[in-house]
Amino acid sequence: MSNPIRLVIFGRQGAGKGTQCVRLVERFGVAHISTGDMLRAAVTAETELGLKAKAVMDAGNLVGDDIMNGIVRERLDEDDANTTGFVLDGFPRTIAQAEALTQILGTRALHGAVNLDVPLEEVTARMMARGRADDTPDAITRRLELYESETRPVLEWFAARDLLVTVDGLGTEAEITERLFAAIAARV
Ligand code: ADP
Repeated sequence: MSNPIRLVIFGRQGAGKGTQCVRLVERFGVAHISTGDMLRAAVTAETELGLKAKAVMDAGNLVGDDIMNGIVRERLDEDDANTTGFVLDGFPRTIAQAEALTQILGTRALHGAVNLDVPLEEVTARMMARGRADDTPDAITRRLELYESETRPVLEWFAARDLLVTVDGLGTEAEITERLFAAIAARV
């Protein structure tokens, strides 16, 4: 069996990460670990976590680092994450989460952190159009603001560790997939 591939993917809300993650799973056989999907599942199942997270998510705010770090630690300890590797989507979103991730991974080094780069004006237009339940205009604005203030520094954190690869996220779906495959293949 091939060696596990460990990736983090970044992109503003509405950058098309979800779609491209499906392609990465097909191509590299990794597990797609999306903290947004995990939280939405918890909300639907009305678990204790879901009940706590719902209001925070509806407002477009960030769920607390301690909660998020715990969820991700548990998920990354599962078998598939260890055998096939993973593409981690939606985490880390703060420097504290990036530091926790380093600790959680221990000797399991990341191959790269991919930034799917789509300009702010473009993602704003796309998000206003897609109409997901948590996509109210206020929540959209708030999430994009938090991306700049909290997550932008995380990109710099990865760049300083020579892990950041920026991929142009404008183009057809297939073009972007090809760019992503090439960027990742160069690192694994
Ligand atoms: P988006 O559609 O904004 O890219 P996600 O699907 O990744 O968002 O996450 C949806 C919501 O879940 C976020 O707005 C936030 O409230 C919460 N969330 C997801 N991941 C994290 C995280 N790593 N830290 C804090 N909150 C998170």
